[in-house]
Amino acid sequence: MKLSKLFALATLVLALLISSMLARILAGEWRHYQATRAGLQALQLAHQAMLAAEKVSLERGPANALMGADAPDAAARQRLADARLGSDATLAALQAALAGAPRQPDAALLAVGKARAALAAARRGVDAVAAQPRAARAPAQIRGAVQHMFDVVPLVMQAVTALSQRAEAVYPQFSGALMSARIAVELREYAGRLGSHFTAALTAQQALSEEDTAHINVLRGRIEQLRLLTTLSPNEANADARVAVALQTMEARYFGDGLAFAGGIVAASKAGRPYGMDSAQFAAGYVPAMQSILQVRDALLALSIDGARQASEQAQRELLLASCLGAAMLLMLAGLLYILRRRVVRPLLWATRAVVDIANGDLDTPVRVSQRRDEIGDMQHALLRLRASNLEKRQLELERQHLIEQLRVSADTDYLTGTLNRRAFTAAGKAMARRCQEHGLPLALIIFDIDYFKAVNDECGHDAGDLVLIRIAELVGRELCDGDILARYGGEEFIVMPVNCDLAGARGVAERLRAAIAAAPIRLPDGASLRVTASFGVTAAGGTPATLDGLFRSADAALYNAKKLGRNRVECG
Ligand code: GH3
Ligand code: MG
Ligand code: MG
Repeated sequence: MKLSKLFALATLVLALLISSMLARILAGEWRHYQATRAGLQALQLAHQAMLAAEKVSLERGPANALMGADAPDAAARQRLADARLGSDATLAALQAALAGAPRQPDAALLAVGKARAALAAARRGVDAVAAQPRAARAPAQIRGAVQHMFDVVPLVMQAVTALSQRAEAVYPQFSGALMSARIAVELREYAGRLGSHFTAALTAQQALSEEDTAHINVLRGRIEQLRLLTTLSPNEANADARVAVALQTMEARYFGDGLAFAGGIVAASKAGRPYGMDSAQFAAGYVPAMQSILQVRDALLALSIDGARQASEQAQRELLLASCLGAAMLLMLAGLLYILRRRVVRPLLWATRAVVDIANGDLDTPVRVSQRRDEIGDMQHALLRLRASNLEKRQLELERQHLIEQLRVSADTDYLTGTLNRRAFTAAGKAMARRCQEHGLPLALIIFDIDYFKAVNDECGHDAGDLVLIRIAELVGRELCDGDILARYGGEEFIVMPVNCDLAGARGVAERLRAAIAAAPIRLPDGASLRVTASFGVTAAGGTPATLDGLFRSADAALYNAKKLGRNRVECG
């Protein structure tokens, strides 16, 4: 796989792995945070539900007063109406809050709904009793109405229990405090019921009925149990300063003053002494003592809610921290990969391409470099130097080749006329002789020598002689065909090997050359014009394979004849 693809794939896989890991961590933190919020909300709603239970309990006082009064006055009715409004408002608010809290237990909302229905039914019972004349009110009917009012509170407490359990699932550390708070609510309920059993006797200023006395005894027993549960249970919440103070206050105010106050009425009833107070005065003495129980409840709840709020804020901070760290990590990763790609992978690919180009001899493609002073930059600059030295080597090689070619040409060329020299002719002539022999082609040789050339030198000067040699070579070169070999054999003697010519053909060529030389005036530098002639000796290979030397000797002999026979002529040999 190519490095670039591998890098892209590795980047993708790494990004996916890290993103999914971060997503899992963040999802966990988010769930924890949501759970702490839901737990906190459950605690607040549980407190709200406890307050609602308290309001429902409080509604019993004016309800009982109305049922016990001979002719209820407007003030008593108003007190009941106010109490009902208070409990309705609290219950409605609780119901609305629960309906708008999707993560709270359905059981709580259900219990509040039932409590409201039960409260409405119980109120109808109370109103039915109160509507009758005092004498017509049957005790059983009154007890039934009172009991129905009692029965509403446990329904509200079901909501408290469900919400407490929800909170305890998130904050197990507060389960003791919540349990104690519920016990305090129950304690307050029983304390209220205890007080209500004195109403009839105090209203009538009669001794407590047997039934009331029995109820009072049972309730005292329950209250004592709950007191032990609240104060003696090994509960770390009790160590809290606020809770400890509230518990001490409850001990003094309710279990000390409150119960002693109620105990005084029981004692007076037993002894047949006058009570010295009516039911309203009793309520004024007893009810405030119960407030201390609610302070214990509120202290315990405040402790739990504060703790839950801190835990929720802590979870929020952790979520924020995890998000920031996650984002920073992703940014770092993206930056790292970007730098790695830009500063390592890409330059490495360029370098690879450059090395491949240099190895393949392609020195024309420029090497791409990044202007960085790091290891990659060093490598790129090393590549630049490698390419430059290779370019230099190539240049030197070209020059060497050129020189060799020049040398070869000058070694084969006659310096004056530019035709082949004798050495080159020997090589070329031998090659042509071999080819003609191989292909069965005719082979001929012409030698010509300028006539009286010594006289040219003597009369016109050596330079003019050189010029004549140059002009003759040019002229003959023009007359010959492609492939014919022309060489200066020495002095003013030239040799021609025409292509594919037998003796007659070669003779014709020689004749043509001779006529051309004789006809061409040669203009000298001083303006004078000169005509020269040349004598030709022609020979051709016979049936038997001929050597170049043999042909030369034969042609030379013919040339000698031409000279002897008067010059400016062609002779065959
Ligand atoms: P012939 O008709 O019998 O050939 O008479 P010739 O004068 O041409 O013969 P010879 O061989 O006596 O003279 C050749 C002369 O050519 C001698 C020499 O000075 C001259 N020569 C040879 N090479 C060169 C050269 O390169 N340049 C010049 N200017 N003269 C040359
Ligand atoms: Mg000569
Ligand atoms: Mg000559």
